[in-house]
Amino acid sequence: MQILKEIAKEKKIFNSLKEIRDEIKKRAPEYKIPNVKRIIRLMIKLGAKLKTKTKKIKEELKFCPICEVPFKSLKEKNLFGKEIIMFYFCPICKFKTKDKKEVPIRYKIVFD
Ligand SMILES: [Zn+2]
Repeated sequence: MQILKEIAKEKKIFNSLKEIRDEIKKRAPEYKIPNVKRIIRLMIKLGAKLKTKTKKIKEELKFCPICEVPFKSLKEKNLFGKEIIMFYFCPICKFKTKDKKEVPIRYKIVFD
């Protein structure tokens, strides 16, 4: 995905996926634009950090909605020495959710 590499090198912050898509269109109009998940996964492979705005859903997620891998959880001990789950996160894209009932609706992609 050469074109994404070039884009990522020149521009460090993308406030939305639309910005990335527009950039691809501008540089290579003939290019077939990959779907949302694919763009994000490729950007993460290139070292991007992902910031998401989420919305609530009813069903609990089984997998990361972007990478489709199982969540890991961060546990901490409370005052009584009991382990509690602070949040769940995706080991690949680091998407975080408190209760697995949130899905990303907007993405900000940052290289630092
Ligand atoms: Zn993920």
